Amino acid sequence: MKSIHRRAFIGSTAAAAASTFAFLKPSRSCAAEEQPKTPPFCVNHDLHTHTLYSDGAHPIPLHILEARAFELEAIAITDHYTPGSKLAASDNEFERYLAEIERERSGQQDVIVLKGAEATVLDATGRISIDAAHAARLEWVLCDLGGQSEGTLKHTPPDKMKYAENVIRSYLGLCDVPYLNAIAHPFNTGNTTPALMPEDYPEPLLRELAAKMAATGKVFDVMNDTIFWFSRSGIAPRALTRQYVEIVKLFAAQKVRFQVSSDDHRTGLGNTRWSQLVLQRAAVPPEQIVDAKKIKLLRT
Ligand SMILES: [Zn+2]
Repeated sequence: MKSIHRRAFIGSTAAAAASTFAFLKPSRSCAAEEQPKTPPFCVNHDLHTHTLYSDGAHPIPLHILEARAFELEAIAITDHYTPGSKLAASDNEFERYLAEIERERSGQQDVIVLKGAEATVLDATGRISIDAAHAARLEWVLCDLGGQSEGTLKHTPPDKMKYAENVIRSYLGLCDVPYLNAIAHPFNTGNTTPALMPEDYPEPLLRELAAKMAATGKVFDVMNDTIFWFSRSGIAPRALTRQYVEIVKLFAAQKVRFQVSSDDHRTGLGNTRWSQLVLQRAAVPPEQIVDAKKIKLLRT
């Protein structure tokens, strides 16, 4: 038998893996050779971040400078577009925001910077806080459940099953919004009374939602600091991770696509360690991860 030099063999294996997942730019530290059954990928985007235009920590120029320094492939700047927020309250502010992103991103080629916003669900029919005209100016539109989401995080039903149904109905409604790209940190329902854990959602409802998200191309945002949304529930962090992995597995099996994000203002731009751990444990195939290079940019 022909002997293969060990270094050469490792090198060729790594090269094969790198070419298979080339678009995900795996790094050496993410190769996960010790876990051969998990996909050896390292997603290098952060598609949900905030700046001083809402509750982020930094102005847009520093934000982009950091993304370049961290050698991220792509970021989406997704400041809040909710009733009463700066961007929703003033078209001048909205225009200033878009112009500033355009100016700052065009001065460099290190990182793709997407013009985005994070809208919020208004009620359990999935009504959303941004209209088509404003969304048309953006390249990446998220929507979350938040404190203004009637019937879920606002005026939470005392009955857990009713609550779960309202959450799913809200998300099913979002699937009908043609200009929406991604649902931000889905199932962030742990800090309400009652609290809903990932395992509390009835599987048939999850399957119905997953099928509709897949059919309408809505992306599932695996946000790094999901524990924040369960911090008052008392759930052990690793129990939450296990439960969330099961949800992600179910959505992945229905061919839903995923993105990772820091929701920066919480755990720092580009910090998607937990998100990637969840995707790996759920064995999400790389082709079901959003490729930011394929998102169309609107030049002004
Ligand atoms: Zn956010």
